[in-house]
Amino acid sequence: MTTRAYNFCAGPAALPEEVLKQAQAELLDWQGRGLSVMEMSHRSDEFVAIAETAEQDLRDLMQVPDNYKVLFVQGGASQQFAQIPLNFLPEDGVADYVDTGIWSKKAIDEARRFGNINVAASARAQDYFAIPGQNDWQLSKGAAYLHYCTNETIGGLQFDWVPQTGDVPLITDMSSDILSRPVDVSQFGMIYAGAQKNIGPSGLVVVIVREDLLGRARSSCPTMLDYKVAADNGSMFNTPACFSWYLSGLVFKWLKAQGGVEAMARVNHEKQRRLYEYIDSSELYNNPVSRSARSWMNVPFTLADAALDKVFLSGAEERRLLNLKGHRSVGGMRASIYNAVPLEAIDALIDYMKAFEKEHG
Ligand code: PMP
Repeated sequence: MTTRAYNFCAGPAALPEEVLKQAQAELLDWQGRGLSVMEMSHRSDEFVAIAETAEQDLRDLMQVPDNYKVLFVQGGASQQFAQIPLNFLPEDGVADYVDTGIWSKKAIDEARRFGNINVAASARAQDYFAIPGQNDWQLSKGAAYLHYCTNETIGGLQFDWVPQTGDVPLITDMSSDILSRPVDVSQFGMIYAGAQKNIGPSGLVVVIVREDLLGRARSSCPTMLDYKVAADNGSMFNTPACFSWYLSGLVFKWLKAQGGVEAMARVNHEKQRRLYEYIDSSELYNNPVSRSARSWMNVPFTLADAALDKVFLSGAEERRLLNLKGHRSVGGMRASIYNAVPLEAIDALIDYMKAFEKEHG
């Protein structure tokens, strides 16, 4: 019998149980070689094969075109906030950013350290409950790129459309919704994602970047932050996050076995549909995000009486529904329902929410 709980953590987040079991089985002795992946040289044939297989599987899953590099780097998605202007924003240039919440705002604040940043649109006027339509954006002439975040992990605000910027490369933070539904990679100059939500363990960032954008880094850009250096060295200019890379590779295999991103999207659609439908029908719970911008991955909700929050959380833990507490900056609750969180977990959560409403509503 499994002792594992349903984990709604925003990140590091739930991983597929099959993946953890495989990693456990291989932990001491990877495929009869007599050592753990954690103990291998990153230059060994064994690890290079693990790394290349992971990259190929990710390419297959996302149908990454051949003119894109796939990089496995470190520093978290937060380091990308600096790395992006250092690589793509000329010192006398301007970059456009869209502000839809806490993570895109952090990207803006960091980029401002390196140059001229134009906030082309902000959801602030709508209290971050809706995304301004592109007709209302103030794009700069000759912007080096446009940056936005496809899914705001804290606010639970997600784009269900792709901005159109012509020749201006789109750069997007997909940390919390990569691989949750199909995307057309060719519409983007660069996609990046911290691994610890929908990919694997923390310590790893996946970057998918169009080749023609490489080689533009400022002369002051640290070597380790130059995407071209990472690309030219197969993401092994220095020692990579080997174990996270390996484990992410197991997740990619698991995703393929589930039927790929389209199959995940069908399940994810149903998961969020059930949860929002119940929240909207209830008197006790509320999600304020406008319907077209509601996140499939992170569902924040509040209780009508915040004094009940603690009771709600402790009752959830008793039922082994973990990590439902909202982000410290906003309070309330948040259910993060990434790929590895099964439909049964959503049903268990809704059952609990119903029972709680009956008792306290
Ligand atoms: N962007 C988004 C959308 C995130 O959700 C997070 C982490 N929660 C980050 C960036 C920052 O990621 P990291 O902790 O890997 O730096």
